Amino acid sequence: MFPSTKNLLRTVAVACILPAGLMGCKASGNQSPGAASQPPVMNAAASAPPQTADDAPPPEKTGGFDGKRAFAHVVKQVGFGPRPSGSQALVHLQDYLQSELKSYGCNVETDSFGADTPVGRLPMKNFLVKIPGEKPGVILLGTHYDTLLKDNFVGADDAGSSTAVMLELARLLCPQRGNYAVWIAFFDGEEAMKQWSDTDSRYGSRQMAARLSASGEIKKIRAFLLADIVGGRKAQFLRESSSTPVLIDLVWNTSAKLGYSALFVNDTTAAQDDHDSFLKRGVPAVDVIGDFMNNGYWHTPQDSLDKISPKTLAIVGHVFLESVKQLQSK
Ligand SMILES: [Zn+2]
Repeated sequence: MFPSTKNLLRTVAVACILPAGLMGCKASGNQSPGAASQPPVMNAAASAPPQTADDAPPPEKTGGFDGKRAFAHVVKQVGFGPRPSGSQALVHLQDYLQSELKSYGCNVETDSFGADTPVGRLPMKNFLVKIPGEKPGVILLGTHYDTLLKDNFVGADDAGSSTAVMLELARLLCPQRGNYAVWIAFFDGEEAMKQWSDTDSRYGSRQMAARLSASGEIKKIRAFLLADIVGGRKAQFLRESSSTPVLIDLVWNTSAKLGYSALFVNDTTAAQDDHDSFLKRGVPAVDVIGDFMNNGYWHTPQDSLDKISPKTLAIVGHVFLESVKQLQSK
């Protein structure tokens, strides 16, 4: 995503605060914090690792959403290394997405296409999970899964976190049948290859929106809930001003009811993101996006695994699950 012009003044301020010599702290692949060395024989109370602020709540408290599983998906993605569109690392992630979704029993459609970008024509792939419903109408959820083309950028939060949340949502939702169909989109090529513009960004979501327009299916989409940068330890979510007001209210009222008002605050921000590809074609959409302008690591090599909280992932997953329930009842 990219800040809209409203945010540019803040961009300048943030850029000045950032340390000049950005240290390349590449995330270490496959360790989950705190799980390392427990003595083999101890009683249950003593051997339980201490609860920390970032531990995921038990799934029964977040509608079944398992923050630990989601966190493991972030670890996996970061382990593939930087994952820009067209890279071999992204092919590894594509294989991982497909095998995970298949193991959940999801029906997945794949669209392979070529995108003309300022760095040449790149092979890209969108995935669309389709869960049938009883009535006509579709609730669309989505994320991008590519990372910014930049040295040492492993994108734990952008877009490891939202990709992880959508995988965990797919595990829970694929076996369910609601009033309306639920589709879950995994977009390639959200990031700009050189400089964010309408033609250098959102390659995957523009492709999917165009295809769904051509087939007429886009008219069936009642709501599009997009997630991006949703895993930070200190994440806050601001109302994104280009999003559809009734959907912002739906998500924010849901989060308040669940007790998450400290994360879902009432300030506003403005972001250009994959929701634009659908808003431009008349689909109501909301971008649930962490406050990237102020997280201190957006689009830098510091967007690494240590920034990610299983608890934040679980809260966002819970909010998405409850928001889908609300949309299913309308
Ligand atoms: Zn980004």
